[in-house]
Amino acid sequence: MTDIGIVGAGAAAAAATYLVDGAVPDASITVLEKSGGLCGRAATRRRDDVTYDYGANYLKDDDDRVVDLVSAFDDGLVEVAGDIYAFDRTGSVSEGRDADERKWTYRTGLTRLAKHLFGATDATVHRRTRVEGIARAGDAWTVTDAAGERWGPFDVLLLNPPAPQTAALLETADWESEARADLLSATRDVDYRSVWTAVLGYPFELDRPYYALVNTDKGHPVGWVAREECKPGHVPDGESVLVVQANHEWSVERYDADPAENVAELAGHAASLLDDGRLSDPTWTDHQGWRYALPESGLRRGARTAAEDAGLYVLGDWVEGEARLHAAVRNGLDTGERVVYAL
Ligand SMILES: Cc1cc2nc3c(=O)[nH]c(=O)nc-3n(C[C@H](O)[C@H](O)[C@H](O)COP(=O)(O)OP(=O)(O)OC[C@H]3O[C@@H](n4cnc5c(N)ncnc54)[C@H](O)[C@@H]3O)c2cc1C
Repeated sequence: MTDIGIVGAGAAAAAATYLVDGAVPDASITVLEKSGGLCGRAATRRRDDVTYDYGANYLKDDDDRVVDLVSAFDDGLVEVAGDIYAFDRTGSVSEGRDADERKWTYRTGLTRLAKHLFGATDATVHRRTRVEGIARAGDAWTVTDAAGERWGPFDVLLLNPPAPQTAALLETADWESEARADLLSATRDVDYRSVWTAVLGYPFELDRPYYALVNTDKGHPVGWVAREECKPGHVPDGESVLVVQANHEWSVERYDADPAENVAELAGHAASLLDDGRLSDPTWTDHQGWRYALPESGLRRGARTAAEDAGLYVLGDWVEGEARLHAAVRNGLDTGERVVYAL
């Protein structure tokens, strides 16, 4: 029996779990996730008959391995309809990006991806379990959660949280070694962009030729506006739902401000960008601050090798160096393969 511990249940962890579980029949995999849900920043909420992805907006068909994996889990998979148009710092909208890429989500939202992947394994996932410390115990690893409970020993430990949260865990490791020092300093070097998201619901339909608008010159307070009704199964007929993401500077400045004021300001921007005054007055709203939304760089090459020799792996979009869901999944598959090879 090989005991594997995984901290975090993001998309990268789900892909790694799926790969290792399939390749190592005697693996016992324990996943500890701090939140109540699966799939991390690829996050979905429901409200009455509405489903909305309020973190990652969709999964891009950018990578053959990821496409193969997703195709094997196509129950409920849907394509987002419509193109992405651009807007500039003045709010002027124009036809934008390449229309050829497929954009995927699930009828029940992006979290379905992790539910599919974990559901196909024998892994045990413990939600609402925040890991606060990791320790080296002989040749194995243990972790301690916020309630003081100790988990393990694990032959292999995988860390999936965003870089700053992984760094905080590495700091706790009573494992004095060059491998830890190297990995910790490289992990601390990964910077993030923040995103403050408002979700706006309306009791009427919008007729627009695009799915979303992206700010291309980074000069507008809003970085992205998407129409959730372009995702089959997400919004009932006769309604609209906008997901509005503020840019990094606005998000940092307003991170702790009154959420109602933030939502009102972003609704005003949406009304102006989509040129419809009704949009400044949504009938319901939701919001989420993402402090560690998008990694700006990747883990320095070579920084993880020595830690992996000791059975400690880091994984996620920040390890790959691409702030995208498909990159996180690909990194999970690659990491899972290295774990299998090492075992
Ligand atoms: C606002 C926003 C918009 C985005 N838009 C897109 C998009 O349109 N397209 C796209 O491809 N990508 C997008 N992304 C990026 C995409 O969401 C990420 O690249 C991807 O989800 C990262 O997956 P991951 O597995 O690397 O990490 P995460 O999803 O961050 O998973 C890490 C997990 O670890 C858990 N965790 C953290 N600390 C602990 C702890 N101490 N103990 C236990 N568990 C812990 C977290 O709760 C989380 O579940 C967006 C992200 C955000 C925030």
